[in-house]
Amino acid sequence: MIEISEVKKSYGNGESSSMALRGISLKIENGTFTVILGPSGSGKSTLLNVASGLERPDSGSIRYDEMDISNLGDKQLTQFRKENVGFIFQQYYLLPNLNVDRNVKMGADLAGNKEYRQIIEAVGLGGKEEKYPDELSGGEQQRVSVARALAKNPKVLYLDEPTGALDEETGRLVLDYIDRLQRQLGFTVVMVTHNVNIAEMADTVIRMNSGKIVERYAGQARKTAY
Ligand code: ADP
Ligand code: ADP
Repeated sequence: MIEISEVKKSYGNGESSSMALRGISLKIENGTFTVILGPSGSGKSTLLNVASGLERPDSGSIRYDEMDISNLGDKQLTQFRKENVGFIFQQYYLLPNLNVDRNVKMGADLAGNKEYRQIIEAVGLGGKEEKYPDELSGGEQQRVSVARALAKNPKVLYLDEPTGALDEETGRLVLDYIDRLQRQLGFTVVMVTHNVNIAEMADTVIRMNSGKIVERYAGQARKTAY
């Protein structure tokens, strides 16, 4: 379980300081799919960054099962992310001079994982291992970044607007892959999105406003799917 307790985070100082998180408490069960909704500037990305150990909170704690990552030193925190956490952003951040296989291998190497080739198959890119990013469509590039993140075998996959740069149909396809792989492999998913329709894929939907959680409810599709 991920247990976020009373987390606060502000940027800048003095008069220009802005409070991005104003006291967030949230429990996320292992193996569940959580979607975070809310208007631009409400603190969604900051919550993702703090929960995943990319940034530190000003106060409060973030526990992964028994470990409080807000107490870890820089090296330990980096190690924690390498071993436990995968990221997918709106931008794909693929290395342009590496082919699909090498881009995905990079993720695998971070976690010392030798078994990454079947992940390329699983996201539907079998046969495209030798292609370079600029030879792929946007949807394919995002699937490479999904494969790269999953090649680490992460316990938690964090996604920040993963379909923001894709058209609706392609975005849906990428999400279907993530949804299917999550059911198969059982990792935890936490996804920030502006797209209310994606919420129907989630176990839990969280709505943020002005640095606070203002609503939390069960998603729809999962209930009917089981
Ligand atoms: P989104 O709304 O899609 O989450 P933003 O455009 O708000 O993305 O932010 C993109 C990146 O810029 C994030 O990493 C965020 O932390 C950072 N960011 C957002 N607002 C500011 C700001 N005022 N100053 C510096 N960085 C910012
Ligand atoms: P969202 O993801 O919901 O768009 P963010 O978490 O990006 O919201 O931003 C929350 C608030 O924190 C906004 O006011 C934003 O401008 C500010 N902010 C985010 N990142 C930074 C940053 N790196 N530097 C300064 N301000 C930031």
